[in-house]
Amino acid sequence: MKESPKIVILGAGMSAVACAESLLDFFQVELYEKSKGFGGRLCSKKYHETRFHLGAQFCTCTDPDFKKLLNKNNAKKFNGSMYNFFQKEEIETHQYFVHPDGMQALVRESSESLDIKAREKCIRVDAQNKIAYFESGLEVSYDILISSLPFPQAQELLEFDESLNINFDPCIAVGLMINSAIKTKYSAYQSVNQDISWAASSKFYNATIDETWVLQFSPETSRAMFDVSENQLADFASNQLNELFDSDIIIEDSHVFKWKYAQCNRLNSEKKFIALENDIFAIGDWNISPRVESAFLSGKALAKFLVSNKK
Ligand SMILES: Cc1cc2nc3c(=O)[nH]c(=O)nc-3n(C[C@H](O)[C@H](O)[C@H](O)COP(=O)(O)OP(=O)(O)OC[C@H]3O[C@@H](n4cnc5c(N)ncnc54)[C@H](O)[C@@H]3O)c2cc1C
Repeated sequence: MKESPKIVILGAGMSAVACAESLLDFFQVELYEKSKGFGGRLCSKKYHETRFHLGAQFCTCTDPDFKKLLNKNNAKKFNGSMYNFFQKEEIETHQYFVHPDGMQALVRESSESLDIKAREKCIRVDAQNKIAYFESGLEVSYDILISSLPFPQAQELLEFDESLNINFDPCIAVGLMINSAIKTKYSAYQSVNQDISWAASSKFYNATIDETWVLQFSPETSRAMFDVSENQLADFASNQLNELFDSDIIIEDSHVFKWKYAQCNRLNSEKKFIALENDIFAIGDWNISPRVESAFLSGKALAKFLVSNKK
């Protein structure tokens, strides 16, 4: 019997997992992820019995297939309320979803059926001979290669000459462990001021863990403070939190994460993936918009295309 073609996917975030899951019955599929696990920008840091969400905080859900994936992975409804300072109004959250174990758990069940090789960073692709090279020295041949990397990284690796104008903003996220719970009207605040785009307590995704807070800096402030030390960033974030609630909270511990490529500047593009020469494809949220659901839709759209064009 003829062997199924081999698909190598670079990355194991939402777009890669969504794509791989739909390809499994038709192809051999292997994922190579540079970090130690799955999830990508769905990322949270466990700290004793509590945790910080450092990447995506929640996701919207409008697509029925995405809803199925959320159900399969035990996502929960956004638990709490949200206020937007810029719009000066409470935000409707009924289409928002979270995971009580941290956002990367949105793909945990799905990842279990996949062949994910962790700590494998792809450093070069020989498109003519169809070989991917990894930092570890590993060389992997493929029939089809799919990149799920953020656009600037994908472009650098695959050297594709696309005249797309896709930029990514950085984001500094600071997780704060506090000495006691803060009494606030809302559990999450958007567009707090020109420095802080998001400030939220862990209560909106898990009311049973010790309360933590995450502050995400605006793109401008993230850019301006990107090289500042972690201690200074944690101090800045804790001052912002105390100013916001006119409080005197003591920070017991903190964790700083600097995303160089956090969110893209694209909004609702029609094209859900890019097809390059020599059976190379690029998926990822940036094909559509900077949302978890868009990453899912990009991965799914490419899988559908590959399955329907399978020779
Ligand atoms: C701070 C922040 C806040 C956000 N807030 C929200 C939100 O509230 N709601 C929302 O819907 N979305 C939010 N987003 C966006 C959301 O996280 C993304 O849209 C989505 O997770 C992107 O998934 P992806 O698969 O396209 O890319 P990624 O998750 O970035 O996956 C790419 C993967 O490729 C891996 N990789 C990179 N280079 C290599 C290499 N050379 N070799 C192998 N692997 C490699 C990476 O480690 C990563 O795992 C936020 C993002 C950030 C950073």
